[in-house]
Amino acid sequence: MQLPDLDALHAPYRLVCVAPHLDDAALSLGGMLAAPPASAAPALVITLCTAAPTTDYNAVAREFHGQWDLESDDIVGQRKREDRAAMAELGVDFIWLEVLDAIYRCPTAYHSRETLFAAPQADDPLIPFVTGLFAGLRRQLPQARIVVPLGIGEHVDHLICFAAAQHVLGEAAWYYEDIPYVLRPGALERRLAALDGRWMAQPVTINDGLTAKVAAISAYRSQIGELFGGAAPMERQIREYAAAVADTGGSAERLWRIVP
Ligand SMILES: [Zn+2]
Repeated sequence: MQLPDLDALHAPYRLVCVAPHLDDAALSLGGMLAAPPASAAPALVITLCTAAPTTDYNAVAREFHGQWDLESDDIVGQRKREDRAAMAELGVDFIWLEVLDAIYRCPTAYHSRETLFAAPQADDPLIPFVTGLFAGLRRQLPQARIVVPLGIGEHVDHLICFAAAQHVLGEAAWYYEDIPYVLRPGALERRLAALDGRWMAQPVTINDGLTAKVAAISAYRSQIGELFGGAAPMERQIREYAAAVADTGGSAERLWRIVP
């Protein structure tokens, strides 16, 4: 079910996934989000960057648009239809917070791959927005496990979520491995080496959720070619990752938290 805004939160959510973009939740956490046991509370996905941009695109926006399988100029409209289908596959509640993606929000600052996959600008308006979001969630949903990107790949929107969660939620926050970036050899190790503190991995078994996860990712038709090279390689890579991070066989996704 789509909720109109954060004021509509009511259910006792067991799991809240904060996703910078329309696809991050299904990619990284689809198995944990999907198919809760009948006795469990539902899960919630909060996606930040869902606002429609003006058409005055910068170079990296034009580059991405050229790589996506777009049906028309209604880029965000198509991505929202894909997201709605993916959320239905997972059976979760979801909210779109209608912030602009970095490439549309600060087109001068984040104008290339080098500036987009790097430290955020100090005056980026997403920073106070996300800080306020986490403070509100802690008040509204004190019992929920809030899971945010670890920031593997260093996309600026992911890094802002990571830093704000650490600042506001402290040791209560959990972090997910950013797919597809974590699939690149050495990317996780590079990110962990850049972080302060001692970090602890926790694989979470998703055996029953893996099929729903693959189905949900398949809904993002505009993105699959760029991210994986097609539906078949996507399914293979997602299944290989799920097997690789499972401690004791089966399928998993892996969370991280800071050791108190
Ligand atoms: Zn993302």
